[in-house]
Amino acid sequence: MSEKSVYEKLAEKIMVPGSVRIPKLFAMLADENEAAMLLALPATASELAAKMNIDPSLAEKKLAEFYHKGLAFKSVKPDGVRFRLDRDIVQFHDATILWPEAPKAYFALWQEFMEEEWPAYAKIVESAIPKPFTRIIPVEASVSAKNQILSFESAKELIESAKVICVTKCTCRLIAGKCDRPIEVCLQIGKAAEYNLDRGTGRRVTQAEALQILKDSEEAGLMHVTMNRSADMHFICNCCGCCCIAMPVMIKYGTRMTDPSRYLATIDPDACQACGACVDRCWFTAITMDEENNTAIVAADKCMGCGVCQVSCPAEAIKLVESRPREFIPAA
Ligand code: SF4
Ligand code: SF4
Ligand code: SF4
Repeated sequence: MSEKSVYEKLAEKIMVPGSVRIPKLFAMLADENEAAMLLALPATASELAAKMNIDPSLAEKKLAEFYHKGLAFKSVKPDGVRFRLDRDIVQFHDATILWPEAPKAYFALWQEFMEEEWPAYAKIVESAIPKPFTRIIPVEASVSAKNQILSFESAKELIESAKVICVTKCTCRLIAGKCDRPIEVCLQIGKAAEYNLDRGTGRRVTQAEALQILKDSEEAGLMHVTMNRSADMHFICNCCGCCCIAMPVMIKYGTRMTDPSRYLATIDPDACQACGACVDRCWFTAITMDEENNTAIVAADKCMGCGVCQVSCPAEAIKLVESRPREFIPAA
């Protein structure tokens, strides 16, 4: 058997062994010498210089380039600034698509991977983890009893309690371009905001600006998504069902890549004007028209509790009601 290339080894390190396109994406980001340096991580600049037998100033320069391109993350340790390779395919996706100088061909190859290879890897991820890494948070105005909303499922509270916030471009829509929904809508909070500001990939926003981004996203039919735990959240994504890394594989193949919120949409048949707006808004085809009774109805098993249907209802006939216990959201 032939020896694996440095790029194939890098693909293995980010948990996509055997991928055809991920090694090619690495090759667009790093030449073979640089790829060998990436394989030698984690390391400080002086450790990398010793491992690769190169000048420490060259090691320092290369690590700064890797960080800029999103290939490596850094953390300050007592023995210096230590760099590590992206942890997995999702981190590689999120960080390197924000590479400021990424050429169009880079995005095109990523999208080819998403179409041709990602659905199978997503199935592997689904079977390897007990719960999805992310969950939907509802459009707050859609929830019937506001006092039921817990602080960690309120997008508003997450923003209002954040010390540092920045907005980055939606990496999924950047590469897929299947819709014309807003791109600059990924809200990074706390450590993730500091990382993106330091790397130059995020724009600092105030709490008021972040709340406006949430509102604009809701109106555009985007779903709020955050980390699937009840503490220390780092982002609020605003996802569509067509370009997203998670939603299309759920919609097309039933691969559970994100958890629903704790809420379920319900429609008041007396208030419903049968306009059909909510049917068009729901990414999960959870709403259909009951022609006989002249009302929209929700299929509970399909509803993800996002609330984007409520935003478009002219009759205020839709409410989200609590349907899962607090324990549905993992503590950590
Ligand atoms: S997860 Fe959602 S908001 Fe985040 S980058 Fe993908 S589509 Fe955009
Ligand atoms: S019916 Fe569809 S749009 Fe409405 S909350 Fe459920 S999943 Fe979201
Ligand atoms: S948007 Fe409102 S009024 Fe229109 S069909 Fe849906 S529930 Fe009925």
